[in-house]
This record gives sequence, structure tokens and C-alpha cells, in this order.
Amino acid sequence: MRYISTRDGRSPAEARPFDDILLAGLAPDGGLYVPETWPLFGANELRALKGKSYAETAFAVTAPFLGDAVSPAEWRAIIDRAYRGFDDADVAPLRQVAPDLYLLELFHGPTLAFKDYALQLIGPLFDAVLKRKHQRVTVIGATSGDTGSAAIEACRDRDSIDIFMLYPAGRISEVQRRQMTTVQSANVHAVAVDGTFDDCQDLVKAMFADAKFRDAFHLSAVNSINWARIMAQIVYYVAAGVALGAPSTPVAFAVPTGNFGNVYAAHAARAMGLPVSRLIVATNRNDILTRFFNQGDMSLGPVEPTISPSMDIQISSNFERLYFELAGRDGKAVASAFAEFRKTGTLPIAKPQWEKARSLFSAYRVDEDQTRAAMKAAYNESGRLIDPHSAVALAAAKRALGDTSMNLSAGPLVVVATAHPAKFPDAVESATGIRPEAPPRLARIMKLPERLEKLPNRLGAVEDFIKSRARLGGGR
Ligand SMILES: *Cc1c(COP(=O)(O)O)cnc(C)c1O
Repeated sequence: MRYISTRDGRSPAEARPFDDILLAGLAPDGGLYVPETWPLFGANELRALKGKSYAETAFAVTAPFLGDAVSPAEWRAIIDRAYRGFDDADVAPLRQVAPDLYLLELFHGPTLAFKDYALQLIGPLFDAVLKRKHQRVTVIGATSGDTGSAAIEACRDRDSIDIFMLYPAGRISEVQRRQMTTVQSANVHAVAVDGTFDDCQDLVKAMFADAKFRDAFHLSAVNSINWARIMAQIVYYVAAGVALGAPSTPVAFAVPTGNFGNVYAAHAARAMGLPVSRLIVATNRNDILTRFFNQGDMSLGPVEPTISPSMDIQISSNFERLYFELAGRDGKAVASAFAEFRKTGTLPIAKPQWEKARSLFSAYRVDEDQTRAAMKAAYNESGRLIDPHSAVALAAAKRALGDTSMNLSAGPLVVVATAHPAKFPDAVESATGIRPEAPPRLARIMKLPERLEKLPNRLGAVEDFIKSRARLGGGR
């Protein structure tokens, strides 16, 4: 399997193998990597997955994407180890909440949110590929909450990786901070920057732009546009579909969305052959994607804070992968459309392409009151506490069920639950009156000592700290 950039779809000579695009993340032309073709799963292959463990399904679904980046035996061992520590034997269990309505729980990994499902695989995969190439990297990132801890858990104790995660001091929750600062591994560095999230992001961008520093420390990122993250997320859609009757029964999914990564993975599962009756894009007040699907308008607005903060995003980076398909895989057209988006804040789209998009996805915007009402209804109707992100998806799913034009009356509908309710205890308590109980791994970190570095919002200070701690560069 080889990969092409969304901004260069016409030159197969440029196609790259998996290990290159894993380490590169973004393509040199600024595009995102996508597979040259989709590996296909026919009815027999789907049927063969019935009753398989999550790890077995993960191997079957992902192996075609890897080529010879790692050996099949090594990949199988990495997968087994990655999901062994999850706190539910099914890894991604389905819970029935009403006839034909299910929650897909994706919060059983170390940081209690769905990003673990991909990052727990990518950490060891990075390590394996780097070891083969006798290379090391320094992973740097900025986080406003969930991504940082998931990346740290993925990279901790890896021989070939040092990780530095910048967060805005005093501006993330105690749970989010402790999930980063209580990790005692020597290769992990949580950095509290005296500034905002945007300041942290600017520092990370400035380090990547500092060519001498970037090259000396082999800077890398494990951000949400990395193809390997999408690949790993396809697995739970296939697993859920098969558990609910694929290939004979098509399944609908409602996915809470910010960066369009998770719902794009569902689309990829469909492209690979999983029968999907509908994909429902669920956004909070930051509704650029809903405006696109419903009105054909993708124009930037201000980011508004909500009780589902991991979706408080205006630029949905992964959307470019869908746009590439809508544009008939014309990389030049994608490049010019996204150049215009950057310049004017509005992404151009032709009517036939927009109609194609609407045939593939339905979208709903869920405001704060509707999110709280969905948490309360879930508790009243099924006795389950759900987190605000999952509630956005549940509210959207219910609206879709009431929408007769969607013809969703028959067949299972799966609401993707992306975080454990105890990660957002205040929002859950204010909506339901019940404070969610912290699972053991969360209770544990509330007692552990913290380790962090406080730094001013100054590039020189952050670079000096990395120079003093990274195991690479400076002759070490
Ligand atoms: C990251 C995140 C999302 C959004 O996922 P995307 O792939 O960016 O669409 C939703 N819910 C939670 C809890 C998250 O952490």
C-alpha cells in the first residue's frame, strides 16, 4: 500500500510507503496523506471477523495498510500489547440503550477518551519503525486538554522518542493536568507555559520553523492529521458493524466531531466495504461542519467555548481528505481551494460536490442546552451517565431518527461515546444531578506526585529546556 498527498493526487511517482508517511505526518506540499486505493473487505471477509477479539479485528483491518513497514508478527504483538491494558475485556464495548440504539464506548484506555485507541498503537509503531531505521525523534505538541495526555501515554518509556507537551498553565482542568504531570517516565516532559493555548501552539510552530533546531532534534508530531490515527480508528467501526450484523445488516453511526477525524474513519470503513446506512456528523456550537453539509457554507467563525471542549474547533483539518475525494482526487484543485480557504476564510465548493457530500453524511448542530438535555435523558431512560461529547452525538442521533427523510427507522444506530463521564464531572453533574464516579485509574492519579516544568512564553526558554533534556542533539 502506498500513499499520496491530497494536494498532489496526480503523480503516482510521488507515492510513499507507510513508514515514510507515518514519520512525516504532513506531506511536504502541505497536503494530507491518503491511501492510493482502499483495501476491500467483501462479505466473506466481514463474516470471518464475527466473534473475533478486538486485537484480531485490528490486525485484519490494519495489516493491508502497513506494507512491510513492520513484520506481521511484530505488528500483531504491538496490537496485543496496546489493548491489553484497556479496562474492558471487549476494548470497545457496545451498550444497548434502546431497541436498535447503542453506545459504542471508546473510553476504556489509559486517558479515558477515544484518542487512546489510535495513539496506543501509534506510540509503539513509531518506536518500531524508528528502531529499524536507527533513528530517534523528539515529539513536541501543544494541548488544550485531551490530546496531550493521550500522546504522552502513547510515547512514555519508548527508547526512540522523547516527548515535550506544552500546555497553558492554569487553563486546563486538574484531571487533564494530572494525566500529564503524574507520568514519571524519564522521556516525558510536561511543560506549563505562562500563556494561552494559542501561545503554546505558536511556540510549537516556531520550533518547527527553526530549521536548525528542528533538524538537530528531529522534531516530530503525533497530531490528528497523521494517517495512522485514521487507520487505527477504522477498526472499531468495523468491529461494531460486524457485532451488530454486518455484512447482512447495515449500521448507522452518529459521531461527535471537531477535526473530522473520527467520522472520516467511519467513512473509510464504509469505503472498505462495511455496510453503513448513514453517517451522522454531530457538532456543538462550533458548527462549521454542520453549516457545510446543510448549507454548503464552509466559512470560519470565532471559536466558542462549550461544555464539549474537545470539539471547540473551527478548522477541521481532516476534512481535506474528504474534499480530495469530492474533487475527484484532483490534488491541484484541492491545493488551490485550501489556499483560498486560508486567504479568505471560506472554502469554495461546487454544487455537485456539495451534493455528493450530503449524500455521504448528515449533520446536526447541538447547542449547550440540548447537550445537557441529552445527558439528562440518557440517565433517565437508561440509567447511564454519558459525557458531554457523547451527548452531542446522542442528541444528533435522536434528531436523525425523527427526520423521516432519512429513513432511519430500521436497523441499528450506534452513538459513538468518545469520553468517560468522569473526565467531565462538573458538566455531567450539572445536567443530571449525579457526580460520575472516577474509575480506578483516574482516582489513582489524583494522589500521585506531579512533575512539570514551568516556563515563560518565550521560544528561547522552551528550546533551551528541550536542549537540556532531549536525549538527542548536543552530542548525546
Ligand atoms: C478529540 C475528541 C473529539 C473529536 O474528534 P475528531 O476526530 O477531532 O472529530 C470528540 N470527543 C472527544 C472526547 C475528543 O477527545
